[in-house]
Amino acid sequence: MNTRTPLIAGNWKMNKLTGAASAFAREFKTLVAGLMGVDVLICPPFTCLAALREEFRDTPVGLGGQNMFYEPDGAYTGEVSAEMLLDAGCAAVILGHSERREIIGETDEIVRRKTRLALQTGLRPIVCVGETLAVREAGRAAVHVRDQTESALAGLSGEEVRRVTVAYEPIWAIGTGRTATAADAQEICSLIRATIASLAGGGAAAEVRVLYGGSVKAANIAELLQAGDIDGALVGGASLQAAEFAELVRLARVRT
Ligand code: PEP
Repeated sequence: MNTRTPLIAGNWKMNKLTGAASAFAREFKTLVAGLMGVDVLICPPFTCLAALREEFRDTPVGLGGQNMFYEPDGAYTGEVSAEMLLDAGCAAVILGHSERREIIGETDEIVRRKTRLALQTGLRPIVCVGETLAVREAGRAAVHVRDQTESALAGLSGEEVRRVTVAYEPIWAIGTGRTATAADAQEICSLIRATIASLAGGGAAAEVRVLYGGSVKAANIAELLQAGDIDGALVGGASLQAAEFAELVRLARVRT
């Protein structure tokens, strides 16, 4: 049986000022108070971390960064380090999001370096992988995602791999309202788990959470989570409203 606790991670991207973030948190923490059987993470802009840390103190809602740099410190104007995220109260960090790969030009090599440094610093990396529509239509989605996963995890110990979360986010499904079918998402998520097994063994593969991301909302989360290899979701648009996100989280919890 799968014993992985579902994880619902909200990616706010470049949205919300501190006032709106605090208002969200006050409403959200009331709505999810006492909810068991699901882990919840919010990844706000860096500028909202301090306010949210205060609001979510003594709650199980975790905080994550949306990015970090691949060097630990130094003359890198405008970048944020893994240690800074930890210091700001983050437990995790999203790495290799397709918007960073496509818009900022992050390569597999950069994602690999960031993943390693996040782990060394004590952050849990959420490594994003996923194909464009052109790659999918060319029948190369599986190969592409396998290569991205292998590249991000290359050189890590089995113990390190166990602390990674992988998020499968088909680029054509992000922010488009077009979700992969549960069967398509399961096919690729199961391939990601098989890739992890070949790199780090079956024990690690059984522990690693594999998320799906791409237009996830309350209306489709339950179906996605019925698939054996989907352990939660990375949620963009539907994580911005407290009531909507809380409903999504409620639907994802393990029924005991
Ligand atoms: C994302 O950006 O990680 C994402 C999945 O966005 P959305 O849920 O809006 O498609």
